[in-house]
Amino acid sequence: MNVHARRRGYSHAAWLAVLLALGLATPGLAQMRRVVLLYDERTDLPGLATLDARLVATLTAGSPGGVEIYREAMDLSRFAADRHRVLLRNYLRAKYADKRIDVVIPVLGPALDFALAHGREMFPGAAIVFCGIDRREFDARRLPANVTGVILKRVFAPTLELALRLHPGTEHVLLISGSSEFDRRLVEAARVEFRAARPEVTIDYRIGLPLPDLLETLARLPPRTVVLYSTMFTDRTGRPYVPHEVAARIADTANAPVYAFVDQYLGGGIVGGHMYNLDVHAEEAARLALQVLAGTPPSAIPPVERLASADVFDWRQLRRWGIDEHQLPAGAVVRFRDIGPWERYRTTILIAAGLLLLQSALIAALLLERRSRRRSQMALQQSEARVNVQRAELAHLGRVAMVGELSAALAHEINQPLTAILANARAALRLIKSDGPGSVELRAILEDIAADDLRAGTVVHRARDLVKKGGSEPRILSVNEMVAEVLELARTDLQDHGVVARTRLCSPAPRVFGDRVQLEQVLLNLIMNASDAMRETPAGQRLLIVSTVMHGDAVRIEVEDRGSGIAPDALETVFEPFVTTKGDGLGLGLSICRSIISAHHGSIRAQNNSEGGATFVISLPPTTGTGPLNAS
Ligand code: ADP
Repeated sequence: MNVHARRRGYSHAAWLAVLLALGLATPGLAQMRRVVLLYDERTDLPGLATLDARLVATLTAGSPGGVEIYREAMDLSRFAADRHRVLLRNYLRAKYADKRIDVVIPVLGPALDFALAHGREMFPGAAIVFCGIDRREFDARRLPANVTGVILKRVFAPTLELALRLHPGTEHVLLISGSSEFDRRLVEAARVEFRAARPEVTIDYRIGLPLPDLLETLARLPPRTVVLYSTMFTDRTGRPYVPHEVAARIADTANAPVYAFVDQYLGGGIVGGHMYNLDVHAEEAARLALQVLAGTPPSAIPPVERLASADVFDWRQLRRWGIDEHQLPAGAVVRFRDIGPWERYRTTILIAAGLLLLQSALIAALLLERRSRRRSQMALQQSEARVNVQRAELAHLGRVAMVGELSAALAHEINQPLTAILANARAALRLIKSDGPGSVELRAILEDIAADDLRAGTVVHRARDLVKKGGSEPRILSVNEMVAEVLELARTDLQDHGVVARTRLCSPAPRVFGDRVQLEQVLLNLIMNASDAMRETPAGQRLLIVSTVMHGDAVRIEVEDRGSGIAPDALETVFEPFVTTKGDGLGLGLSICRSIISAHHGSIRAQNNSEGGATFVISLPPTTGTGPLNAS
């Protein structure tokens, strides 16, 4: 062996030592423990099946190192002969010869008897941890040292008390039981208790009746009878039964309420009773077994007595027999309550309700949003309407102010025809007085009078139009005609100020759609401003030119003067309200003009002319409509 090989050999040995040490220290690799569960009956009987499940679950959960569980079901009530027990003993002894059993758990009295009698032979060295066994079934002082367990405190009298309490007029009490060894043990215990607790009550014991006979009897019980059912593994002919099934058949057939002592029968038609619960015992017994497996000697664990009984009832049977829940003793447990739709479909209902709520909230939110949108739309419309009204009122005020300014010129204009009318009327009178009136002259005079009257009427009519509140109906208007009309209105005023007015009108006349009174107001305002601006212009140079132009897609009206012009930085501000350079001015005219033009979807601006003075340019969208022109 060379050096290398030797080194490898050493290191292998070292690893082996470490692994061995680890293996001893690891609980997972500890020696496997073995437990035998020993049942007097078959484990497929419902009561034993649940008990078995609880035993196995508790043992497995409590032994992390692992435990091997064996199960022996002896079927003693179906194979009652001693021969069967001898065979069983021999069989189990041979079967487990090679297995070292640590703990045997006999379940119920007959199994414990068997284990005590033959345990040492079958499972040498094993401890016995019993389960579900009544103190009355063994003498605790005689228990060998390797035995401990859970003592079941079976009580029978409280169930009788319950039955009598819930059925006050009871005259007959029947106790039903099978006749297997186990059945009889329980009946004897019950009999002793009943005699002690209720010596006055006569109890009719029906032990080991074959089921058909029993059912026949039960179907025709006299009134005011209650039935107590213990267990029934076999009838007196030796016929085996499943005690659970018997409980259900009895409860189903009997015309009297049936009470029992083990809660495992509940649910098949039994009303209830003061019942003991074997599951609790199974769990307790498994715990004791685990202690023994962990190394505590059984002699150091005294048997534990567990009272695991309670007043338990089947809600459906309480209803069937008309028993009011209030009559039940305090602390009674009521099972199989018919759960209403709420309990049954709680999750579904909650989800559905949640969805409904969500949907409702969504709908509400949408409705609210719609309402607030509507509100803001309405508010917008209202504020637009308010703006329109304000604009109309302002425009009206502006017109009234303009008519005020024009009043002297208007009075003058009306005065002229009136003076002419007067002169003509006087001439006509003179002609009549001179008795030689020529009808031709008189006619001419009267025609003059009518013409002057018309002239005065027109002036008054125009002034009234301007002072009238509210605009006219929007219509298609000829821009050229509006210019002519406004110039006519301002004619006298312009003459008074020595202003020469000229027009450059585009042909064909451009048309716009709008309010005649308002648009004429704008023109008149611009013309009067122009006239005002030319006060300082030397006489003879005061020129006003009103033009109408088609400029691209817009109709333009330009009002040009030879006045003072506008300071370049004021070209925009002049349109703001209360901007004025006049001592008696309000500074509202141009702002009213801009708002009227904007309402007609147009624009207005001011510019200075190279040859002096200012020009105001109005742009309006043209209309191609062919409706009535400027009809009002
Ligand atoms: P007001 O005529 O009451 O002053 P406006 O809004 O009509 O109010 O005019 C505002 C100001 O704009 C006038 O005071 C004037 O200074 C200036 N303005 C208006 N038109 C002209 C013009 N054609 N030439 C020079 N300045 C003008």
